[in-house]
Amino acid sequence: MNMAEWLDRTSRHRGDAPALFLGPTLVADYRGFRDRASALARALTDRGIRPGDRVAIFMKNCPDYLIVLYGIWYAGAVAVPINAKLHGKEAAWIIGDSGAGLAFVTPDAWQGLVDATPIRVIDTTTDEFADMIRGDGDGDAPVSRGPDGLAWLFYTSGTTGRPKGVQITHGMLATMSLCYQVDVDPVAPADAAFYAAPMSHGAGLYAPIHVRMGARHVCPVSAGFDAAEVLDAAAAQGPLSMFMAPTMVRRLTDEARRKGSRGDGIRTIVYGGGPMYRADIEEAVALFGPRFVQIYGQGECPMGISVLSRDEVADRAHPRWRDRLGSVGRAQSAVQVAIGDADGRPVPTGAMGEIMVRGGPVMPGYWQDPQATARTLRDGWLMTGDVGRLDEDGYLTLQDRSKDVIISGGTNIYPREIEDVLLTHPEVHECAIVGRPSAEWGEDVVAFVVRHPGSTVDDHALDELCLAQIARFKRPKQYRYLQELPKNNYGKVLKTELRQMLGTEDT
Ligand code: AMP
Repeated sequence: MNMAEWLDRTSRHRGDAPALFLGPTLVADYRGFRDRASALARALTDRGIRPGDRVAIFMKNCPDYLIVLYGIWYAGAVAVPINAKLHGKEAAWIIGDSGAGLAFVTPDAWQGLVDATPIRVIDTTTDEFADMIRGDGDGDAPVSRGPDGLAWLFYTSGTTGRPKGVQITHGMLATMSLCYQVDVDPVAPADAAFYAAPMSHGAGLYAPIHVRMGARHVCPVSAGFDAAEVLDAAAAQGPLSMFMAPTMVRRLTDEARRKGSRGDGIRTIVYGGGPMYRADIEEAVALFGPRFVQIYGQGECPMGISVLSRDEVADRAHPRWRDRLGSVGRAQSAVQVAIGDADGRPVPTGAMGEIMVRGGPVMPGYWQDPQATARTLRDGWLMTGDVGRLDEDGYLTLQDRSKDVIISGGTNIYPREIEDVLLTHPEVHECAIVGRPSAEWGEDVVAFVVRHPGSTVDDHALDELCLAQIARFKRPKQYRYLQELPKNNYGKVLKTELRQMLGTEDT
């Protein structure tokens, strides 16, 4: 089924319901949203776009983003959303790899792109675009697509090497959306999706379930993440639900403290995409209350591997609540999760190994990259490249990316464990642990630490903290102090760059 069907149906039975907002301003109801998307599909067809063709979206978050996404789907074509923060050259590389014949852009993103790609670029603030979306209320139904039909090429964030295009089908999107409704948070028509994180990533993947339920879609005027704006919008337009990376939750908590806000109007913050430190989520729940749900996913199984529910995130009574809060929860309804050894054979409950997933939301493979597909999909299982363990109750705890595990003196050291300890120091703002080759031990542990402004915390104090909480051999052999950690455009720490700072090779 084409995901645009959900928009078509909602527009028929709830056409007057408010759909798209820019900040507090209503841009379109569901009938208007559908008319514009189907008009755009016609305009795309007129410009030679055929079902299965790729169309790039290099846009900041805005209501037109959804019109473009759904217009592409109405035409049966494949969306290639690209993070608007990427350099024009990086975007051009993705466009070239995907074979997109057309790109929609917002003005701020596009100049670099025009210089770097020969394809047709349409600025969504121009009259040309306004003409393309001018509907007459008589648009065509979505082009029929089966569940295996490609809907979205999702380029991985490329923390290691070139990004790869994950093929996301209409069937995967339908399944992950239904899992959102069952496992993550049931959406009601009065709710709103608030797009605080890039729509090219997780936030955009949550649009379809909100379309299905006829809920509102609110794009921040800042077009990005601004903690003060989130709090104000929630108070004025709640109930709002949104996806946030862990660093955004941290910033929201700091801002709410400054403002004396407790997050009124926020229905749900779904967090994930990177490790959430326990201290940060405990503080956020203490301040905002039970408004948080954690998900674990990756482009290859978007937003769809496991979930730690609202009640579990807020629970402080269960004898093992701390362990559970440090986990990524239990498998979502449509997938099976297992832990495998180096050959992908299941290991006993509680043992550490690579996390493997199979089920409806798992990708059929990477775009035109059979070698990478064969490495990642084995015997029907997605090898996630994440290391973790499952307990007897089915809770999955992530340790690290397998590439980040440090092997010192023949023993595995999981950076996350040391990072968790260092972050309990009130003067440590951020930290990241990496391995450095050592002739004596194989690898040594090195800590990169960002201190709070004015802090004088030193090696000695941090060493004491580690010695009080973890085995001696795990404590860092060296501390390096930085102003900030290198991060990619999704806020993920680039350990590759940290290793390069140490002068080590990285693949
Ligand atoms: P991406 O494909 O860019 O979304 O990155 C996916 C990776 O982010 C996963 O393979 C994990 O390593 C990490 N990740 C995603 N969700 C979580 C989470 N809830 N906790 C810790 N790490 C996560």
